[in-house]
Amino acid sequence: MKVSYVDLPGQYLQQRQEILDAVDATLRSGRYILGEPVSEFERRFAALCGVQHAVGVANGTDALILALKALDIGPGDEVITAANSWVSSASSIALVGAVPVFADVGDDYNLDPAKLEAAITPRTKAIMPVHLTGRCCDMTAINALAKRHGLAVIEDAAQAAGALFEGKPAGSMSDIACFSLHPLKNLNAAGDAGAVTTHHQHLADRIAQLRNHGLMERNHVAFWAYNSRLDSLQAAILNTKFEKLQAVIERRRHNASRYREQIADLVQCPQPRDNARDTYHLFVIQAERRDELKQFLKEQGISTAIHYPVPIHLQPSSEALGYARGSLPITEAQARRILSLPVHHLLEDEHIDYVASQLRAFYRS
Ligand SMILES: *Cc1c(COP(=O)(O)O)cnc(C)c1O
Repeated sequence: MKVSYVDLPGQYLQQRQEILDAVDATLRSGRYILGEPVSEFERRFAALCGVQHAVGVANGTDALILALKALDIGPGDEVITAANSWVSSASSIALVGAVPVFADVGDDYNLDPAKLEAAITPRTKAIMPVHLTGRCCDMTAINALAKRHGLAVIEDAAQAAGALFEGKPAGSMSDIACFSLHPLKNLNAAGDAGAVTTHHQHLADRIAQLRNHGLMERNHVAFWAYNSRLDSLQAAILNTKFEKLQAVIERRRHNASRYREQIADLVQCPQPRDNARDTYHLFVIQAERRDELKQFLKEQGISTAIHYPVPIHLQPSSEALGYARGSLPITEAQARRILSLPVHHLLEDEHIDYVASQLRAFYRS
């Protein structure tokens, strides 16, 4: 049996006619920049996230950069985030001229509110919690801490479209939140795409200008800015996927609990919480002899991934930040043990059972 880590062609074939019709209608309209597909996407995405405003942008990394810009974060400022994330969580901070500061994480890979406070300095301007794997951070604790210290909060919700924490959607629990709609995310385009969400009109207006040359109207530019609009064809494709998103998430949650039932005695599995709905963008286990296990599963036709093998603070790009090995002990220990198992919504029970049985076989031998 073969178990793929992702199956994008399979996902396309499930919706082929709908997607082709949406692309065809957009091409026939002759409006290829912004226009109705992007406005429709923004209405639907704002509703999904329980906010007043969503602004479509070119990708998740730009979403973070524009959000930091909208909050006037730049040289002389520090922003605290996690080092076990995709590199954009830190590169976005560095690219606006600010300094990324890393705090260690808890057992569930998310920033540990207890450790965050120690990373706050007089220069700290914002906290950027990352809802890693599609599991929201403890935003009640993080927002309370931010309030106490007068800091802004920017959710990096790139992996968490549709996730809930204490009944609130990812993207609605901070000043401004950033999403990626990259092909590998649960709500995905057929190329790069992203979005910013906020409750605040002035921040939404600012992001809309930042993504579109700083234009106020056609011929007047308020400030130097970017060309980082959500592509209209990608918006049209994304609009075909909203209705299926909840079913996609439910299937991933089903796959996650099926894994848990079968392998939780052998490896550390992500645990569900009563007060949250995790979306399992990733199903990350912690395993002894991780590299050997990965190789063994590969030989059995099962593809897996590591998110991420080298934490951001130990990347060559971070050298000037001055983090030594050992400075984030939990992040670093997890990087040696984590493995992402296939969990996508096209997997059948027999696939999950096969992965579980091969994992058992590995630890029996
Ligand atoms: C995917 C991702 C990003 C970047 O999104 P892109 O659309 O690839 O630019 C940022 N942060 C996290 C946590 C991500 O998973």
